[in-house]
Amino acid sequence: MPIKTILCSALLALKKGSESKMRITVVNHKYHYEMEKLVRLFLPNEKIEVTKEKSDGEGLYTEAGSEITVILKTADFEKKLTAPLCDDNEMQMGRMVYSLFSEYTGFHPKWGVLTGVRPSKLLIATEKRLGREKAEEYFYKDLLVSEEKYALARRVADCEQRIIALSKPNSFSLYISIPFCPTRCSYCSFVSHSVQTEKARALVPVYCNLLLKEIEEIGIIVKTLGLRLESVYVGGGTPTTLSANQLAELIASVEKNFDLSNCREFTVEAGRPDTITEEKLRVLMNSPVSRISINPQTFSDDVLKNIGRCHSAEETVTAFNLARKIGFDCINMDLIAGLPGDTEEGFGYSLDKAVSLDPENITVHTLALKRSSNLNGQDMRVTAENAKRVDGMLRYTYGRLSEKYRPYYMYRQSKSAGNLENTGWCKENTECLYNIFMMEECHTILSAGAGAVTKLKAYSGDLIERIFNFKYPFEYISGFSELTERKKRISEFYCTYF
Ligand code: SF4
Repeated sequence: MPIKTILCSALLALKKGSESKMRITVVNHKYHYEMEKLVRLFLPNEKIEVTKEKSDGEGLYTEAGSEITVILKTADFEKKLTAPLCDDNEMQMGRMVYSLFSEYTGFHPKWGVLTGVRPSKLLIATEKRLGREKAEEYFYKDLLVSEEKYALARRVADCEQRIIALSKPNSFSLYISIPFCPTRCSYCSFVSHSVQTEKARALVPVYCNLLLKEIEEIGIIVKTLGLRLESVYVGGGTPTTLSANQLAELIASVEKNFDLSNCREFTVEAGRPDTITEEKLRVLMNSPVSRISINPQTFSDDVLKNIGRCHSAEETVTAFNLARKIGFDCINMDLIAGLPGDTEEGFGYSLDKAVSLDPENITVHTLALKRSSNLNGQDMRVTAENAKRVDGMLRYTYGRLSEKYRPYYMYRQSKSAGNLENTGWCKENTECLYNIFMMEECHTILSAGAGAVTKLKAYSGDLIERIFNFKYPFEYISGFSELTERKKRISEFYCTYF
């Protein structure tokens, strides 16, 4: 089928899907959650109902009886597939569902039936189990991953393995959350508060004081357990929403409470150019901070307006040049593919502009619309047309960045345009170690602040245990003593699993 026809039919199907409900009938198997996730790749905007009751009506029928049966029936499509039972019935059923929905919608997700968020982690684990060649075969034949995406996962996995090897059994990284921003971007799904209102601004100093206390508490636990700090990441939100003094206090507290002699990297997100001042940059420069992030998202002023950012593209350039002048030699820039009002040409311009500034890292995200983002009510549905546009942006990225940069970490989010990925690109030896440590879950992440999640990693095996902090700053402030209680689990965990 010609591509135009495919896309038109996909768009039509997805539009149809957006107006109705897809019923998934599950008979004699337990893969309902996986099948639902797969169907969501094709019909991201549709209501999905899972039932065990058989009926002749429209929808997807799945059964694992004497054989595997999958039937897709809609107003204008009906097809049945069967296959013998095998060693992995779930995977077999997934491929059959993928095949029917690809034919129905004309849309062929490039990550195949892979719905997990960490393709490179899966590749590394599969390679350990089966060897390199068999792992490749598994990605192509079992998961139906395209050559383009396999090549990306391969490059990322090769880079990550070198960094993962740096991690020791008693290693950990520290994450600090600053959940405040100057205004809220319309696509934002983080817990970040805009400090535009008096009420939100008043929370900041109280929050900062408690955060220093939490950092001190974590420091005591770390000393008692003899853990080794590998990397620090201050994110959010926009940490540079804090004043220069507040930033200085925060960093001094990390220096005071932790042994930084083995710390390989200290990142502070200075995400929004409208929060960056020379005074704040100098505070960061005169500290152990080794990497900052200045995030344009786009270099189009019109698109910036569409997403509710109160700064111009020029301000990003000015902030970047100032950071360079002051001496920062490792700067990341985030871009987003698929922003409202952006085009492939517009995204290409933004990427070219970022490359011309010559940052050490460029991270290209795919727009993902979560329920908590303001854009969700707008007409930003993940249609085939939108998926094709974002796919074009990512293909341009591969070509444009491959010469000077290489992909070093990657993850996927649900509800991203075209079910595509977010990829961090870096120049030689400038990988953000924290991103890899955190994404590949190779050691414990101890976290402080609202919305932060501590992830405890056992000495051996894949066991991970999470401790959640309160999500919003006001809850964090009112429930702080409860967090001290929850932290007792850190020592218990290390006593049990080390
Ligand atoms: S800068 Fe980031 S965290 Fe802050 S509102 Fe925008 S997207 Fe959300």
